[in-house]
Amino acid sequence: MNDKRDCLRKLPSVDRLLSHKRVQNLIKEYSHRLVVEAIRADLESIRRGILAEQNLEISESAVLDRISQGLRTDFQASLRPVINATGVVIHTNLGRAPLSEAAQAAMIAVAGAYNTLEYDLEEGERGSRLVHAAKLLRALTGAEDAIALNNNAAALILILSALAREREVIISRGQLVEIGGGFRIPAIMRESGATLVEVGTTNRTRIEDYEAAVNEQTAMLLRVHASNFRQLGFVEQPSLSQVTACARQHGLLAVDDLGSGTLINTRKFGLAYEPTIQDSISAGFDLVCFSGDKLLGGPQAGIIVGKAKLMARLKRHPLARAMRVDKLTYAALIATLQHYLRDEALQEIPIWRMIGRELDEIGRTAERWAAQIGGKVVDGRSTVGGGSLPGTDLPTRLLAIAVASPARFAAGLRQADPPVIARVSKSHVLLDPRTVLPEQETDLLRVLSRLALDEDQEKGRLS
Ligand SMILES: *Cc1c(COP(=O)(O)O)cnc(C)c1O
Repeated sequence: MNDKRDCLRKLPSVDRLLSHKRVQNLIKEYSHRLVVEAIRADLESIRRGILAEQNLEISESAVLDRISQGLRTDFQASLRPVINATGVVIHTNLGRAPLSEAAQAAMIAVAGAYNTLEYDLEEGERGSRLVHAAKLLRALTGAEDAIALNNNAAALILILSALAREREVIISRGQLVEIGGGFRIPAIMRESGATLVEVGTTNRTRIEDYEAAVNEQTAMLLRVHASNFRQLGFVEQPSLSQVTACARQHGLLAVDDLGSGTLINTRKFGLAYEPTIQDSISAGFDLVCFSGDKLLGGPQAGIIVGKAKLMARLKRHPLARAMRVDKLTYAALIATLQHYLRDEALQEIPIWRMIGRELDEIGRTAERWAAQIGGKVVDGRSTVGGGSLPGTDLPTRLLAIAVASPARFAAGLRQADPPVIARVSKSHVLLDPRTVLPEQETDLLRVLSRLALDEDQEKGRLS
């Protein structure tokens, strides 16, 4: 009993802690109110611990460590840059496509200044923000007109709401996909008031199946790219031009949701074919939609390209206003599209640089890391990811570090500053140089050396 009273008496007071230099710094960062609350809460849990005869460290420095750790966990920015060492190039959970230097610079330039978002410099009056990327997209895809919205899901909802509400939309059963994050084509249709008419079977759909389903209620034939899975074996889908010919013959709209959509032929990297936007336009689709931050390598956006007359209806729809993009997105999108126009996309856009990285060069980078950190360099595979090129991947070289507990080591990497995201196998932590940006290498090696050193001290040498 006396012991407990003794302990309670030894507790530092709130005022005493507040005068501490470290606490003064915390107050600057998190505010007086939050710091006082954190101190009170910590002292209270110490008191309860003492009464329950559990031993909490009660020294001033232990209290300060706990509250600064707690404040950091609760209030530091939850959106932070990380180092992606997974080898998944378009990693949906890690923000998909990192932007080119020009795109970053363009965002910064319009972020802190007034700009021409909705201002026509020639006329000196109000302009439309919808014009911004349109000319570039027309030049690059051959389409008559283009608009950018918040993301490709929004693009699809706008197309269906504006052009197929209370009408029927025909889609192949093999294309009723779920993209991830609960984005399912049938649910999108329901939300937009269009009626889904499924034709064909899971593995085979022929153009005759579309033909047979057409009636007076039909508004549209919709193709959806199966972007995150691949069907093998006894499979068949009608060609692009069969779908557009059928639509034309019956006076229907032909719409292609490409998902990723690319302006560059992926076959030149030894990858499978990913449908290009130009192919869909030249096959005669009325509208084609795709994401800005998948294989385009730009900011989050949903881009629609196609016939000018339809685009005018989309622009007038109230949802277009609700789904519009902001100045930062336009800035990054325009800069990204300019790389394609100048034929420098493969050099300037990070995802294309990563996809195109030579195996030898990746191997040399991995060897350089191994020389500094330990571990060995092994063969592996990188994936493109992000709902593109399912089932195909790229050969890579990985740094494999043998550790006592790969899961714990990987957790240590995630807690580091900057956090490092790695792959984990049974006995190794695996790091793929392909997706590590050159300017992140110093940070990566610093984080790895420190963790590897801790591991060394615990377990003897890394192998
Ligand atoms: C990824 C994808 C979408 C959704 O695109 P977001 O830009 O993520 O909204 C829609 N359709 C297909 C086929 C996709 O692959």
